[in-house]
This record gives sequence, C-alpha cells and structure tokens, in this order.
Amino acid sequence: MSYINETISFVREIFGSKDFIPLHEPNFSGREKEYVLDTINSTFVSSVGTYVDRFEEFMQVRTQTARAIAVVNGTSGLQVALRLAGVERGDEVLTQALTFIATANAIVYNGADPIFLDVDRDTMGLSPDAVEAFLEEHGELREDGCFNKQTGNKISACLPMHTFGFPVRINKLINVCKSWNIPVVEDAAESLGSEFKGKPTGSFGKLGVFSFNGNKIVTSGGGGAIVTNDEVLGRRGKHLTTTAKQPHSYEYIHDEIGYNYRMPNINAALACAQLENLDIFLKKKKKLAGKYRLFFENTGLRFREELPETSANYWLMCLELQNRKDRDRFLAETNEAGVMTRPIWQLMFKLPMFESCYRDEQINAQYLEERIVNIPSSVK
Ligand SMILES: *Cc1c(COP(=O)(O)O)cnc(C)c1O
Repeated sequence: MSYINETISFVREIFGSKDFIPLHEPNFSGREKEYVLDTINSTFVSSVGTYVDRFEEFMQVRTQTARAIAVVNGTSGLQVALRLAGVERGDEVLTQALTFIATANAIVYNGADPIFLDVDRDTMGLSPDAVEAFLEEHGELREDGCFNKQTGNKISACLPMHTFGFPVRINKLINVCKSWNIPVVEDAAESLGSEFKGKPTGSFGKLGVFSFNGNKIVTSGGGGAIVTNDEVLGRRGKHLTTTAKQPHSYEYIHDEIGYNYRMPNINAALACAQLENLDIFLKKKKKLAGKYRLFFENTGLRFREELPETSANYWLMCLELQNRKDRDRFLAETNEAGVMTRPIWQLMFKLPMFESCYRDEQINAQYLEERIVNIPSSVK
C-alpha cells in the first residue's frame, strides 16, 4: 500500500469512517446553546451586551494584555490595528507573501503597500533575517520614523503571521524592528493559545489580532479581537470600531470617521462558551499531533512539529512532501477518497492584485508553497 493510502486509512481510523472528513470543524460540546439562547431570551443579540464584555475580559486574561477589543472579524481587526499602529495612506508595511489573503488586504485597506519578505523555513512565518536584510539595504532611520530610501515612503509597520499556529521568531523580529523604529502588529489569527517562551502570541507586538471565524481553533461564527498593552491605543481602538460615538444615553455624537466593526453579542456568547473549552481543545490537539507524529515517522514524511521554546496550538496540522509532484498527487488522492487536505496558500505576489508589489527572493516561501499540505485537524 502506498503512503497515501496508508494516510487515508489512518485518518479514517482517527476520525471515524463517515463519508467526508473535513479539514477543521467546530466543536460545540460546551455551553454554546445555553449562552446563545440567553442572548435571544434577553433580546440583547446585537452590538450591546454582557457577552461582549466577558469575551473581551477573557481575551485580556488569556493573552496577558491590558485591553482586548471585540470586532466583527479578524480582517477588520487587522485593518484597524494597522491604523492604530500609525499606518497611513502611501506607507509601506513589511509582511510575508506566504499567508492568507486577509493579511495583505488589510494593508491595502489602509492605502498602504505590502512589502513581501521571505519566511523562515522552520517557522513558516516572517524571517527576522529577511527583515533585517531588507532594512539594511533600503531603510533610512529619520527623526519621524523609518523610510524606504528607494521609494521615499514611510515603513510604518511590520506584520508577521504565526502560520497555522506555529509561532514566528517574534522576539528577534521585535528587536530588529525596534532598532528601526517600526511597530510590530502580530497577525495571530491562527495562533490563539500558542506561546513563544511561555508568553502568548499576539502579546509581543504593539498590537495583536485574532480571528474567531468558523474554521479557527475556537469560533464565534464570525469574529475577531484586537489586543494591546497600550491603554491609550486600546481605548482608541474601541472608539474607532464602534462608529467613534461618544458615550451619551440618547444623543448621536460622533467625533471622527469610525467603523461599525462591533462583534454582535450573540456571536460573543458563542465565543465565550468556546473559550471556556480552549484548554481542553489545546490538549486534544497536542494529543492528535502526537498520534500523527508517530504515524508519519514510519512513512518517511515530515510532520511539522512545534519548535523548541514554543508551544503551538496545532490549529491546522501539516505535512511537508518531497516536491510539487508528490504534493499534487497527495492532494488529489486524499480529496478523491473524501479526506480533505489542502495546499498552503499561493504566495501573495502571484495574485493579480499584488503582482507589482516589492518582494525579495522568497527562497523559503517558494520551497514551502510547493510542499506543505494541511491534513484533518479537528478537535475530537
Ligand atoms: C483567518 C485569518 C484572518 C482573518 O480572519 P477573518 O476572521 O476570517 O476575517 C487573517 N489572517 C489570517 C492569517 C487568517 O488565517
């Protein structure tokens, strides 16, 4: 039997032999129904309610940050977090090309240009060495920030992403960016519960952003959160995402152009119930990763594991295949057999809207793009 057929049998052994095995499905084994029903019974299903407050409080505690802001999804969270970090029209933002589209879109929503730099092969996230190399060649430190010598534009933020919940070298990234006076915003959409040296991802940068979309480790149906240790930015973030309305019991007073990016209470209720189970989910994920590791040891395929000094949430588990041909065969045969697998994303600069963006050599990103696949990772 080929390793692909063996993999299909093994996945079916773990997840049962039902027809279709998805990549990641939500697990509602806690108080989800109770909390959601509670919002309906109370009529507080929309933008005001106690679950939003509870959700924000939980995220503050969980990420060890001073302020969490509930938002309508992770993408809008990224958009506002970049604005809060100081990104303005015409600026440049350093990020990785190997990411989900939202990372790059959020930069453009602010009128800024993404600068695509390479990832580390082991973390699959933005490489501090690539950032340093770019800045040494192109950066110019002025009194009011870092500028790109070639374009004359301000480099106003760095946006690394913790791919599939595996933490990037965030301490080194922060150090490099600090010496160039560039704030870091973490796209932690995939890494709720992951840690670097015992500290939660999302809490290292000036701001961090999480997603609670249906396919993430915990879901609110749709939702996101911005976290920060800067109280002033936190207050401003809440204000901006809630239509910039001044508190008043009946009058409409808006003091700038804000956004209606509030997370509805009914979604926050779902998130609260889910978050109560996060530690259980994390434990089960580690257990599943352990099973995969043992299995793949004997097949000669490389199962991606958390790196030393990090703890991954194993949101989506992944395999590294030998080359593109093997990858394509693996994807075709597993999906044909009803076991969902998926390649890692296409590099952003290969998409028409990002074709003309600056990019470096992308050696590691290209390598990973051809080889990494996700395999079923649901919490059982
Ligand atoms: C899911 C995700 C987002 C966006 O989240 P939504 O809630 O779907 O808007 C952003 N970045 C990355 C890397 C993601 O995986």
